Amino acid sequence: MENKRKPYQLVSREWKQSDTVIELKNTRIGAGSFSVIAGPCAVENEDQIFTICEFLSKFQIKLLRGGAYKPRTSPYSFQGLKKEGLKLLRQAADKYEMEVVTEVMDTNLVDEVAEYADVLQVGTRNMQNYQLLRALSKINKPVLLKRGMSSTLEEWLLAAEYILSGGNNNVILCERGIRTFETATRNTLDLSMVPLVKSLSHLPIIVDPSQGTGLRDLITPMSLASIAAGADGLILEVHNHPDEAMSDGDQSLYFDQFSDLMKKVQNTSEFFGKTVDFESEKVLR
Ligand code: PEP
Ligand code: MN
Repeated sequence: MENKRKPYQLVSREWKQSDTVIELKNTRIGAGSFSVIAGPCAVENEDQIFTICEFLSKFQIKLLRGGAYKPRTSPYSFQGLKKEGLKLLRQAADKYEMEVVTEVMDTNLVDEVAEYADVLQVGTRNMQNYQLLRALSKINKPVLLKRGMSSTLEEWLLAAEYILSGGNNNVILCERGIRTFETATRNTLDLSMVPLVKSLSHLPIIVDPSQGTGLRDLITPMSLASIAAGADGLILEVHNHPDEAMSDGDQSLYFDQFSDLMKKVQNTSEFFGKTVDFESEKVLR
């Protein structure tokens, strides 16, 4: 009855049985709590990020997302406000007592992004950038590790292993969809990873239905399915003017859709025995 030896160790359940909990200033990820990270795909200007933040603060959303350095398929697309975007994220988050989740695209930007962010995101295109993973293993902030769009579960867990093996145990996995033959959706959101990761690893796992589907009308059903699958949270794109967004407008929620979704996320989470880390009641009941 010999089990095939797994190539990863520190991320495995065998290594550590208890669920890893990511402790942040205002909230935690994991441990029966259901987290919502929300914000625009990209920070575009001061008015946009403060307007979105003010809206999110009505729900006491604790975690603000937003890209300052954007990995875009075309070099002609908006590449982000860069350092200016980081500063705006920090200012908006501080005003509303939120924490900043933002992508770090390059090893030489780790220090700069870590100066402004509370959680550093590794994008799907960088999941196998081993230099970047090693650099992030040396910082004392949590890392949100997106699944590579063509990566297997094993490759993904090994990418996390790079971060843990260098000394940083605070990794949050994020399923964001993979490339398949299907073109009706932007990616194929592989929710089967959620219970499978939970059985194999102690790390928390969240779901990104925004990149996962590319279509705003699919965000609510896939969010609720993520809760049922056992996810520890969601990362959601929301915009004050999705139709004018500089990136990912088609998958960005309108404010009223977001409000409706938060109520459903709260009810569904409670049904599955989890406590949400935000408050949908104030504005909705
Ligand atoms: C994003 O979160 O906006 C993003 C670019 O994510 P991904 O790396 O999953 O495509
Ligand atoms: Mn996006």
